[in-house]
Amino acid sequence: MKTQRLTTDKSGIIKACEILKDGGIVAIPTETVYGLAANAYNPNAISKIFKAKGRPQDNPLIVHIANINSLNEIATDIPKSVYRLAEKFWPGPLTIVLNKTDNIPPCVSAGLSTVAVRMPSNPVAQEVISVSGLPLAAPSANLSGSPSPTTATHVINDLDGKIDAVIMGEDCNVGVESTVISLTGEHPVLLRPGGVTLEELREILPDIKVDKAVLSELKSGEKASSPGMKYKHYAPKTETFLVEGDAFAEFVNTKENAVAVCFLEEIENIKIPKIVYGSGATPESLAQNIFATLREVDSMGANAVYIHAPEKNGIGLAVYNRLIRAAAFKVIKL
Ligand code: AMP
Ligand code: MG
Repeated sequence: MKTQRLTTDKSGIIKACEILKDGGIVAIPTETVYGLAANAYNPNAISKIFKAKGRPQDNPLIVHIANINSLNEIATDIPKSVYRLAEKFWPGPLTIVLNKTDNIPPCVSAGLSTVAVRMPSNPVAQEVISVSGLPLAAPSANLSGSPSPTTATHVINDLDGKIDAVIMGEDCNVGVESTVISLTGEHPVLLRPGGVTLEELREILPDIKVDKAVLSELKSGEKASSPGMKYKHYAPKTETFLVEGDAFAEFVNTKENAVAVCFLEEIENIKIPKIVYGSGATPESLAQNIFATLREVDSMGANAVYIHAPEKNGIGLAVYNRLIRAAAFKVIKL
């Protein structure tokens, strides 16, 4: 299949909507990462997403809407807190898991009775949703397991020839996927940290709990509250280690045939090949660059990569959560 490159102007949006209405799949820019979109009500279109990505069938998709009025078509038993969260964080990088209506086919929810919903703020994503008039199921537009795509080029590198089209939009400004919370149990639960921080969520959901899988590896046989969290993810091919502690430069300088992924502040002290992924003082900058950095690591031809871990607060928690998965939970504490 030839993958069409579409523009972000009106003609590109209209073409994308035609493809989506015909049951095709289109990669679209969002503020978090590029998404691979299909009509959430069309199981045949949804099956194309799983096939193109090589995504495990038991990993459910997020449904994207552009208007809060669409929520009732998708979700039921909606608690009042959803509207307070929506007022503060939508459109934006927050995904809410709710009980699903029968409109949502089991392939979208991977057989669960719940559905994940988000309203993106990227204007191109919003236009595609409103002009098509469809709720769009969209996971990240990468091959399953590889780092998420934050540029149109990343999408093309992974999926050229496997999807109908890609909208050639701007680079994603948040850089990590949305925060996922569940509101279907006794307490709100953070399933995946992201652009909306735990600290911000606590202002509206003071009793929110953090799911165990956010910062630790599930034991074999243990059930994941969010199926996506059980998979190895975001990994370069180079063996990857996450390193916690201030003495990062001294530690990596003893390593041979290795690459350091470091903070801007320590660049002069590191004597081995390195990639800077942002400032340790601004975790937002680390989030913006982390996936492009993980993609770049393999081009350095090293045997191992050591990544300086961010602090686990603010959006740093989301970066840390992605990095422990990229490192397959190999953490070195200095
Ligand atoms: P991605 O599409 O790559 O951003 O991944 C979507 C994430 O949302 C995965 O970690 C999924 O497991 C999670 N997710 C989607 N739907 C649900 C749901 N109904 N319940 C719990 N987690 C979900
Ligand atoms: Mg993904």
